[in-house]
Amino acid sequence: MVCTPKIGLEIHLELKTETKMFCGCRNDSAERRPNVNVCPICLAHPGTLPVPNRRAIELVVRTGLALGGRIAGRSHFDRKSYFYPDLPKGYQISQSAAPLVVGGELMGVRINHIHLEEDTGRLLHAGDESLVDFNRAGVPLMELVTEPDITSAEQVAGFARELQRIVRYVGVSNADMEEGEMRVEVNVSVSGGNKVELKNLNSFRSAEDAARAEIARQCEMVSKKKKVVQETRGWDAAKGETVLQRAKESAHDYRYFPDPDIPPFVPAELFDFDVLRASLPELPDARRRRFEKEYGLHEDEALLLTNDGDAANFFEHAASELRTFVPQSDCRLLYNYLVSDLRGLMERTGKHFADIRTTPESFAHLVAKIQSGTFSSRIAKDVLAAMLETGKDPEAIEREEGLQIMKEDELLPIAKDIVAENAQAVLDYRAGKKSAIQFLVGQVMARTKGQAEPDAAREVLKRILS
Ligand code: ZN
Ligand code: MN
Repeated sequence: MVCTPKIGLEIHLELKTETKMFCGCRNDSAERRPNVNVCPICLAHPGTLPVPNRRAIELVVRTGLALGGRIAGRSHFDRKSYFYPDLPKGYQISQSAAPLVVGGELMGVRINHIHLEEDTGRLLHAGDESLVDFNRAGVPLMELVTEPDITSAEQVAGFARELQRIVRYVGVSNADMEEGEMRVEVNVSVSGGNKVELKNLNSFRSAEDAARAEIARQCEMVSKKKKVVQETRGWDAAKGETVLQRAKESAHDYRYFPDPDIPPFVPAELFDFDVLRASLPELPDARRRRFEKEYGLHEDEALLLTNDGDAANFFEHAASELRTFVPQSDCRLLYNYLVSDLRGLMERTGKHFADIRTTPESFAHLVAKIQSGTFSSRIAKDVLAAMLETGKDPEAIEREEGLQIMKEDELLPIAKDIVAENAQAVLDYRAGKKSAIQFLVGQVMARTKGQAEPDAAREVLKRILS
C-alpha cells in the first residue's frame, strides 16, 4: 500500500533588530548574563504600554516581498493567552486574524502566511530550582507557516536551509539554529490521517532525521490498521526515533483577540513596497545560477560559495580584480584557493570574511601570481598566511621575504651539493632504483625551503646524474 506523507513547517526566526519588539531594551542573543536586557514593559509591569518596533515590521514585509507573498492591507496584533512561567504577561502578543504576509512560495512549497510576534523568556532548570531569564522576552520573532506541500524528509531540510540563506541574505535574521535564532517545527501526517507535531529540533539534521523516522512510524501504524494519534513528539537522536512529549489536549483555546493597547496599522502607509522590493539583494537561488554561468562553477561549487553571502561578495570582488589584469582568467583557481586555502586558514584562526585583514584585491594578486607561475603552490601557502596575519599585499611580502621560484640555474649548485652529500642514493639511482631520485628531490625541496618546483628540481638532478 502507498503511504503518502504530507508535511508542513512552522518556522520561528528571531529578527535582527537593535531593540525588542515593544520596548527599547537591547535585542542581543549573545548576552550571557541573565536579566540584563529587561524593563517594566517586557517584564509586564501593570500600567506599561507596548510600542511596536517599526524595523521589525519592515523585516517581515521584506521577507514577504522576497518570497512573493501579499502584504496585508490592514494588520493588527492579537493577544494569544496561555499560562507559562516564561511568559510574564500571561499572553503573547502575536498575530492571528490579520498576519503581515499572506501567501508566497519557496521551492515549490506554498507559504500560508508570515506573522510577527514576541519571543518568550528562557527557563533554566537547575536541580530542584527553575530559573527564568527574561533577556529574550519580547524579542521580535517572525513565524512562517507553510502549506503541507512537502512530501519527503530531505525536502524538509532543503526548504529550511534555503530559507536560512534567504533571511541571512536579506538581513532579516542570523538564523543560527544552535543559538535558537531559528526553530523548525515539522507537522507530519500520512495518508490523510492525524497530524503529529515534531518540536525541539535543534539542527537541520535532526529536523530531517525526525521527519524520516516519523514518516516511517506513521506508515507502519497505518499498515497495521492502527490509528495515528494527534500529539506532540520530540526527537531522540541516540535512539533514532521520535518520542511522545505530550498528548494533544483538546484543541487549545488561546482566546485570540485584538490587543487593545496597539492600534491596527496599514503597512503601505509605513513603507513604500516598491522601494523595499528594489532594495532586496540578489537572492541565493539567482546568485547560484549566475555564478555557474559567469564563473564556470559547478552547481555544488556555486552552492558552497554562495552559502555565505560575505564569501560570495569577496569572491566576486576578487574575480573582477583578477580579470582586470589577466582578462582571460580562469576563476576556478580563485575558487579553489578561496574555499580550501583561505577558508582553511580562516577556520584555524576563527575569522570570518567580514573581519579578515586580506582584501579581495590582494587575494586576486596572489592568485594571479600563482597563475603566472611566479609563486609555487608551496610559496603561495606561506604568502597567504602572511597576508592574513599582516594585511599586506603579496607584492610586499614577496619583496620582504625574497620569495620567488628558483630558476634552474639557481638550483644547479644546490642540486650538486645534494648529490655530493648523498652518495648512497646516487648509487641506488645508478643501479636502476628510480625511486631514489624522489629522495634527492625531497632534499632539494627542503634545502630551498619550498622555493624550488619539484619538476624543475628533478630535471636538474637528472642532468647532473646522467
Ligand atoms: Zn524591555
Ligand atoms: Mn509562534
